[in-house]
Amino acid sequence: MARLLFADDRGVVYDHPSLLAAVRSGDALLRAPERPVPLPEGAALAALPGRLPVGVDPASGALTVLAEARVGRRRFVPLAVAATLPPGFTRTYLPAVAPAPPGGAPAPVLPQWAYTAAALGPRGPAVFALRTDRRRHWSPAAHSGPDLEGLVAERLGDGGGAVLRQLARCALEWRCFTAQNVFYRRDEGALPSSAACNAACLGCLSSQPAGGPPASHERLRRPPSAAELAEVAIEHLTRARGRVMVSFGQGCEGEPLLRAAEIADAIGRIRARTRRGSIHLNTNGSDPAALDALCRAGLDSVRISLNSAAPDLYAAYYRPRGYGLPEVVRSLGVARRRGAYVALNLLTFPGVTDRAGEVAALVGLVARAGVDQVQTRPLAIDPESYLRVARGRGAGGAPVGIRRLVAELRGARPGLVVGNFSRARGERARRRS
Ligand code: SF4
Repeated sequence: MARLLFADDRGVVYDHPSLLAAVRSGDALLRAPERPVPLPEGAALAALPGRLPVGVDPASGALTVLAEARVGRRRFVPLAVAATLPPGFTRTYLPAVAPAPPGGAPAPVLPQWAYTAAALGPRGPAVFALRTDRRRHWSPAAHSGPDLEGLVAERLGDGGGAVLRQLARCALEWRCFTAQNVFYRRDEGALPSSAACNAACLGCLSSQPAGGPPASHERLRRPPSAAELAEVAIEHLTRARGRVMVSFGQGCEGEPLLRAAEIADAIGRIRARTRRGSIHLNTNGSDPAALDALCRAGLDSVRISLNSAAPDLYAAYYRPRGYGLPEVVRSLGVARRRGAYVALNLLTFPGVTDRAGEVAALVGLVARAGVDQVQTRPLAIDPESYLRVARGRGAGGAPVGIRRLVAELRGARPGLVVGNFSRARGERARRRS
């Protein structure tokens, strides 16, 4: 049986001599209903400040808050432990935590990571997660190598253009793999294009209000021109190896559809020079007409992000300005009709996304819209922040588990792919219906 992990205020992690691991689904604390998997390469353990660990008493089966820990002669107030996962995995449960006793410092809002339940398994640290994509080209071991800085310096040689300078920061400071790929000249290369957004996602990676958690990326300041975007894209599409693709809509930017005219211009310039590789867009899907223009210009792949197929829960998370879920659904249809490869970036959260009603609504949407792929991405946010808006919103029903959500999505329509990474041209299944 997997045992409880806890940490001290220096971040040193211990396993409890007797308590077993508990997990969380929404507001429910549970005995672990599944076995954890060994901690994957590239995962990390994190101590959660202001949160007590919750375990299970093996004798009574009772959920137990660990308010005090003893290690050797030391006694201290322990911290709960969570894991953060590498790409390719989908979290199945949240860490089980209890608020620290009153009188201590209030629990700080946690930065944007997808906190995952962790435990001590038979072979060491373990996590409650599912491997949902086995492609290795996104593995952490293939990125942030000792050669990266030299490759960046070489490309920037005479200073490089605005796009390359932004990508250099993304590659070296925020360790963005898609930005690094531009310097490694392989696979999917990033093309950040927009400084503004028409949404205010609670978990936005590049823009957070004062008093909110620190944004994990700095938002792009000056949006590049069509010529600047095309120059970097042509270089990548003509010279890169592997799963060759360029993608607009990165973590360091706002919403690319707000710059549809410039992006359409860039795509035209790119396709005038090369037919090689794929041109992809990550978007919130807010403007179907703008997306239609990009598809007509030559965009061949689109990924639209979504946390729920319920309008109220969608709006509570995205806080959209001037659009809503109907426009997003229309954008799925536009991309499909234009023949683009259509992926859904499903932001998953145990206890909310896997509610029976949410699952039914998502499966229905995927089938109706003819989506080709669902990327199940654990939502990177302080669980309390998301639950605060998700309680009482969205489709109801008891949670069925993230594993069941994935299985139901896989059955939503023939040939649907559930995986975490965008598919290059050669990897896309021929459409059957
Ligand atoms: S749509 Fe993207 S850029 Fe806009 S607020 Fe949401 S996460 Fe941030």
